[in-house]
Amino acid sequence: MEKKQPLRQCIGCGLQKEKRELARILKTPDGEIVYDPTGRGNGRGAYLCRDAECLRKARKKHALSRSFQQEIADSVYDRLEEAMKQA
Ligand SMILES: [Zn+2]
Repeated sequence: MEKKQPLRQCIGCGLQKEKRELARILKTPDGEIVYDPTGRGNGRGAYLCRDAECLRKARKKHALSRSFQQEIADSVYDRLEEAMKQA
């Protein structure tokens, strides 16, 4: 039997999905917020569907600020949106 993957919640739509289906947003030890396509980066992570729509939802409700407990500039969301498009 296949091992069950741990579930994570998308910070945009709030649905629980398998970790591997989600994109990871990472706060690096330097405090930078980056897109982490491999999911292996070192630091605190938040999960998001691989969908620009969920990123927009997250932006609207300031979900990243809540996940990382810090102010997230609009430019950070812009950068993440670009990174997700290219992924
Ligand atoms: Zn989602």
